[in-house]
Amino acid sequence: MTLKSLTSQVLLGVRRWIDSSAGAEAAELFHGPQRIDLVRSLPFLVLHLSCLAVIWVGWSWAAVSVALALYLIRMFCITGFYHRYFSHRSFRTSRIGQFALALLGATCVQRGPLWWAAHHRLHHQRSDEEDDVHSPVQHGFLWSHIGWITSKANFPTRLDVVPDLARYPELHFLDRFDTLIPVGMIAAMGFLGGWLRVHFPGLGTSGPQMICWGFCISTLVLFHASCTINSLSHKMGKRRYATGDESRNSFLLALLTFGEGWHNNHHHYPGAVAQAHYWWEVDLTLYLLKTLSWMGLIWDLHPVPKRVRAHQLLSA
Ligand SMILES: [Zn+2]
Ligand SMILES: [Zn+2]
Repeated sequence: MTLKSLTSQVLLGVRRWIDSSAGAEAAELFHGPQRIDLVRSLPFLVLHLSCLAVIWVGWSWAAVSVALALYLIRMFCITGFYHRYFSHRSFRTSRIGQFALALLGATCVQRGPLWWAAHHRLHHQRSDEEDDVHSPVQHGFLWSHIGWITSKANFPTRLDVVPDLARYPELHFLDRFDTLIPVGMIAAMGFLGGWLRVHFPGLGTSGPQMICWGFCISTLVLFHASCTINSLSHKMGKRRYATGDESRNSFLLALLTFGEGWHNNHHHYPGAVAQAHYWWEVDLTLYLLKTLSWMGLIWDLHPVPKRVRAHQLLSA
C-alpha cells in the first residue's frame, strides 16, 4: 500500500466517525473480510480509555446517580426501541413517535437505528450459522461480544434488510449522523456538571466529572451489559425450545438487560413485544412498554400466542 492510499484510507476512516455513509457503498464493504478497522474504531477505544479519567476527576453521589439513571433509562431505550420496535416491529406508534424512539435509542451510542436493526435481523435469519457475525459458537466469545463491532465489514448499514425503515428520511439522517447524539450528550453532561458546581458546590461535582460518569462510564457499562445478549445469551442458561441455534434463557441476564435474557424464548418467537413467556419471567421492558401503551403513546402490542408456548419444546 502506497503512502497516498494509506493516507486516504485513514482520512476516510476519520470522515466515517461523523458521516457513517461516507465513501464506498455499503454492499462493497459488507462482503469484505472480518478484520478490525483501527482508525474507524478509535473513538470506541477512546471511550474505554476515557473511564480511566475517574482517577483524576474523582466521584460524587450526584455524578454516580446520573450515571446510574442514564444506564437504567437507556437500557430500556435499547431493548424497547432499537430491539423490540425497530428490529422486530412488535408494536406500533405514530411517525413522530417513531422518530422520538429513534432519538432515544441513539443516546445509547450503539450506532443508528437502521444499522442496529439490520444487524439484528440478520442475526435472527442466520443465528449461529457461519455468517452470523456475532455468533459465539462460530467466532468465539470475544469476537461475538466486542470484536465484530470493530470490523470494517460490519460498519455499513445493510439497507436492503430494513426496507420498511429505510423509507423514512428522518431515520436515514439519524442513522448517517448518529455521532451527533453522543456529542450532544457529552456537551449536556459537561454543562450539567459545570452548572451544579457553581449553584450547588456542596454536591462536589464538576463538568469533567459528570462527563466521565454520566457519559463515559454509564455508556460503557450499558454497552457491555447489552452485548451480553450477543455473547453470553448463546452460551449461558437453559434452553426451553428447539430453536436450531444455541440461544438460552437466563434469569440473571434478564435482570441485567431488562428482560432480554429470555433469549431462547425470543429466538423461538421474535415478533412478540414480550420476551417472557410466563408471568414469573421478569421482563422490565415489557412492563414499561405496556405503561407507554396505557398512556396512548404506542399501540398494537403483539402478544405471545398460547400455541407458541407448546411448540418445539425440548422436554416434550
Ligand atoms: Zn441471539
Ligand atoms: Zn431479536
